[in-house]
Amino acid sequence: MKNRQLYFSYRPDGTPTPDVFGERLVDVGAPGEGELLCRNLTVSVDPYLRLKMHDRRSYTPPLQIGEAIPGRAVAEVLESRAPGFSAGDHVMIYGGWQEYAVVSAKAAQKVDLATASAGAWLGPLGMTGMTAYAGLMHIGKPKAGETLVVSGAAGAVGGIVGQIGKILGCRVIGIAGGEEKCRSVTEHLGFNACLNYREPHLATRLENVCGGGADIYFDNVGGEISRAVASTFNNFGRFIVCGLVSQYSGQQPAEPTAFDEFMRLILTRKLTVGGFIVTDIEHHYPEFEETMAGWLKSGQVVHREHVRQGFDEIVPAFLGMLSGENTGKSIVHIA
Ligand code: NDP
Repeated sequence: MKNRQLYFSYRPDGTPTPDVFGERLVDVGAPGEGELLCRNLTVSVDPYLRLKMHDRRSYTPPLQIGEAIPGRAVAEVLESRAPGFSAGDHVMIYGGWQEYAVVSAKAAQKVDLATASAGAWLGPLGMTGMTAYAGLMHIGKPKAGETLVVSGAAGAVGGIVGQIGKILGCRVIGIAGGEEKCRSVTEHLGFNACLNYREPHLATRLENVCGGGADIYFDNVGGEISRAVASTFNNFGRFIVCGLVSQYSGQQPAEPTAFDEFMRLILTRKLTVGGFIVTDIEHHYPEFEETMAGWLKSGQVVHREHVRQGFDEIVPAFLGMLSGENTGKSIVHIA
């Protein structure tokens, strides 16, 4: 059996282009003891892949030229050599950007597509939701009445963060790229307000709409936007550093003194700054899964997804997500 597979073709400088990815046909290996042969049904496209294209130390090793592109997927088990899994089961795996994958059963999670769609498993019920939930709850420690500011508000993680904030009684202010996205964030996700960062004077507009400043900032983007938000922090604010997507393509800092200015804010406003990577906090998964499943069932959290169809759409979906085409979780159905 042959497998269409996307691989890393060269290290981009700046915004990636389609030729960063190559495609090849490879043999599908047979599963060994404890492994599953799976057919990927729906793959996730995520910003961290751009980070992995840099040849530098990070929380995950850099991609090597020629390496198959990794990524999460919802898949169907075709053959199982592991107890507890059978052909026909649906699983969430690190299946990569390819049609078939052989994976260790230990890293596979069974999912029920009758109770939630593949997009929901890759979104609010998966790594995306876990990132939003654990980052906000365990680093942000939100209290009712506080002001929570969320960048990347129309995206997968940001949209869920704001909805959880509302459930907990926070006043939630989103930041997103464009008026239409901002409108959808307030109308469909229930944020109190959402500001378009493409318009000038973000810090001033934020202060006006916050009626004071931010108590918690859940940062998905970094860069200029985060500098604007940081300047509005209330005393004892919590800065949750989740992602820096505005910087992933190697943008140059606009202002060399920004770091010192930020250190001054940490001190004078007594801020807590916490970075996290979702894979380090997996012990919160059971608590998260139960809570999030309940919120989705009750309609308190709404799942939104941006869907493309077909294997050829994986790369366009990834590049489109980096440039902001998506509202909600970006996924591609390939089978
Ligand atoms: P999104 O669904 O939010 O998609 C990415 C979004 O980034 C785009 O839709 C776009 O929205 C926005 N964006 C792109 N370029 C810029 C820019 N220059 N300035 C501001 N916004 C920009 O992706 P995810 O929800 O999957 O991920 C959000 C963040 O969370 C990422 O930084 C990601 O790396 C991080 N993350 C961190 C994890 C962790 O463990 N710490 C785990 C998972 C994700 P717009 O139109 O509004 O510009």
